Amino acid sequence: MNTNNSKNFESLDPQDWEQSKALMHQMVDDAFNYVQHVRDRKIWQDMPEPVLNSFKTALPKQPSTAEQVYTELQTNVLPYPMGNIHPRFWAWYMGNGTISGVMGDFWASILNPNLGGGNHAAHKLEEQVINWIKEIIEFPITSSGLLVSGGSMANYSALAVARNVKAGYDIRSEGLKANNLVFYGSTEVHSCNIKAIELLGLGTKGLKKIKTNADYTINIEALKQQIADDRTNGLKPICIIGTSGTVNTGAVDNLNAIADICEQENLWFHVDGAIGAIAMLSDKIKTQLTGIERADSVALDLHKWLHMPFEAGCVMIKDNAGHKDTFSLIPEYLAKNTRGLASGENWFSEYGLQLSRRFRALKVWMSLKEHGSDRFGRMISRNIEQAYYLGDLVNNHDQLELIAPIGMDIVCFRYNPGSLDLEALNALNKEIKLQIEERAIALPGYTTLNGMYCIRCAISSHRVTNTDFDVLIENVLSIGHELRN
Ligand SMILES: *Cc1c(COP(=O)(O)O)cnc(C)c1O
Repeated sequence: MNTNNSKNFESLDPQDWEQSKALMHQMVDDAFNYVQHVRDRKIWQDMPEPVLNSFKTALPKQPSTAEQVYTELQTNVLPYPMGNIHPRFWAWYMGNGTISGVMGDFWASILNPNLGGGNHAAHKLEEQVINWIKEIIEFPITSSGLLVSGGSMANYSALAVARNVKAGYDIRSEGLKANNLVFYGSTEVHSCNIKAIELLGLGTKGLKKIKTNADYTINIEALKQQIADDRTNGLKPICIIGTSGTVNTGAVDNLNAIADICEQENLWFHVDGAIGAIAMLSDKIKTQLTGIERADSVALDLHKWLHMPFEAGCVMIKDNAGHKDTFSLIPEYLAKNTRGLASGENWFSEYGLQLSRRFRALKVWMSLKEHGSDRFGRMISRNIEQAYYLGDLVNNHDQLELIAPIGMDIVCFRYNPGSLDLEALNALNKEIKLQIEERAIALPGYTTLNGMYCIRCAISSHRVTNTDFDVLIENVLSIGHELRN
């Protein structure tokens, strides 16, 4: 009998299903332990030479046992994590993952459907997740949306639609003609928007960066003036990007003021909500975000404040037809049927760049169902309270100072013992931040604001407690002190 259990039949299935299952059970035990006790392990550590060398070996042409491979994973990978599932990770801007998200990813790989399109349950499930996100950001049900890899792809996709809809001619067939199209955002706009506009053929000059107010929100008067000047100079303004939660300081642009300008000037209103849009779930932030529902498009990240395992982002567009017109292209080999697997009206591949797409909706669906959106909202609210808690610790100590107003859950501060010039202060704070990291106390981030290097904490952890910030501040002070003496 030539089944795939027979010795002669070669496939990629386990040779011994029972043995493979036992290994997987072991992995589940180990993985749960890993997450449950994440706080007890080093948040981050450098990889020693033998570990680094293990990643330089040549292509393995011959098999190993799965047990051997797992041992290597345990030895060379698991002890050297990025650190972002640890409660004291506050660098860049990341979520922590959820166990339900892990379960979703597991089944997504087992089922392994291709979400390019087709008539199957995974497709319906992704549609449902997108509809839930419309509810969260108060977008009409007729909007179109797509799960994408993250904020960068979400912004790119939305700006592509904005360009095509507002260009005023068929840019898909004709390409860029005069190349006078202009996008607007503040100087704090995330770099992925700049990349997107470059890739859309407009060059960096296609994005006008508008100065900010003292709180790092876009200066509305300067924005209006720039649009007027550009029109006078023969340019064609097409879109304003508002940011709800800038990556440096968490500043939220005045979305209603931008929406008003877009209405008056007939511009596309895009919101980069990679950090902030999902905070619509938190009653602490929601009022700050009013105006988001007036946007033509929103980019969200679900692997940031919604804690989905990487990768998960979402783009939402009100002009469903404009969205589809930007990306839909159906060759004969993708032609649809009215019945069967290849039926269904709107395929996800018609709404984005990707044809083959993984089943990333499942982890979102399982996590939202298990926890309920209110709980995610409470986690977000707690992070905001923690940001102010940390802010108070900073304000209550005369050798510490906030360098920017606290925006959402982002706190930028520095150690300042007085009597040092800017250069010395910057070097001192850089060294404090590195020592905190190398001593595996915590992983704060950093940025530079108006020339001032600062320790930047983006508090987007569902595991962190106030005590963790007490520990951070104690160590900033003691290391600062050590370095000064
Ligand atoms: C993180 C971030 C992005 C990019 O999102 P990715 O998921 O990293 O691609 C875009 N905009 C803002 C404001 C961000 O914080």
